[in-house]
Amino acid sequence: MAKVMIKCPEKKTLVFTGVFGDKAFLDRLQIQENKMARCSACGKSHTWTKQDAVLQD
Ligand SMILES: [Zn+2]
Repeated sequence: MAKVMIKCPEKKTLVFTGVFGDKAFLDRLQIQENKMARCSACGKSHTWTKQDAVLQD
């Protein structure tokens, strides 16, 4: 399983969403907006969509 990362809109760095998955997982993802508990870069909570997701091993 890869880590699902998104780019933090504040710090412009990739941060871990707390979700593990792979490409098939993202393809199956039905929920449009996913809420991230706490961004490790800026401390805020972000919402992300599968278009924002980047897989990182
Ligand atoms: Zn952030």
